[in-house]
Amino acid sequence: RERNKIELVTRNLTKSFGELRALDEVSIEVKSCITLIIGPNGSGKTTLINVITGFLGADKGRILFGEKEVTNLPPHDIFKQGIVRTFQTSQPLLKLTVLENLLIAEANYGESIIQSFKRNWLAKEEALVKKALSTLSFLGIEHMWNEPAMNLSGGQLRLLEIGRALMCQAKLIIMDEPIAGIAPDLSHSILKKIRELSGRGISFLIVEHRLDLVLGYVDRVYVMAGGRIVAEGRGKEVLENPRVVEVYLGD
Ligand code: ADP
Repeated sequence: RERNKIELVTRNLTKSFGELRALDEVSIEVKSCITLIIGPNGSGKTTLINVITGFLGADKGRILFGEKEVTNLPPHDIFKQGIVRTFQTSQPLLKLTVLENLLIAEANYGESIIQSFKRNWLAKEEALVKKALSTLSFLGIEHMWNEPAMNLSGGQLRLLEIGRALMCQAKLIIMDEPIAGIAPDLSHSILKKIRELSGRGISFLIVEHRLDLVLGYVDRVYVMAGGRIVAEGRGKEVLENPRVVEVYLGD
């Protein structure tokens, strides 16, 4: 299974904003199932995600996804390679039903065609509807299929966001704070779903601050500070690394 998995590799990624080096020679390998990036505010985590997904250009360095070089490709081309970033459900999407949110997912990434979609969605292929319903069932929110997304709880919305990514043939799902603001028991069920999906061959790159909850579920952790990777490890033991302690005490 591991061998079939597409790996994301960054080599010496560098990105400056004026004088500020937000990313300074960042090299990571997302080959394990779930990779976590942690670090204090301003350490460069969001910039790294933005550069990987093509929302920001790199000044220097490379990004490889499997055999393919994806450095500085436009976001939509990176998305087409199977690198899918989840987004918070926006106001217009909250008004659509849960099922519609999944049916629209692939077309909606990057552009807003909700109106034309609404007129045509009944004509969409049965296969797409089947896939959407089985995705909802896997996520445990199939009973909500015909509810407007705004009726979902915070935790259910996170699952919906994962569901939209799954509808897009995602090979690598990138999530910014998947459990922020979610109660611990629901957070664990979200993380368990992520774990289960990684068992099915989908890789995850996650930025999350709630280390107490998340560390037990990840395969690899990178710690960022000042735009650099300052430590890496397999899990909880990374927190005992003196450099990591120093970084967090300085926060
Ligand atoms: P994190 O996600 O770890 O909190 P960021 O990647 O958001 O860190 O930010 C890293 C550094 O880059 C910070 O000092 C931040 O102020 C700066 N930064 C981020 N985005 C921009 C931008 N668009 N313009 C200027 N500075 C930015």
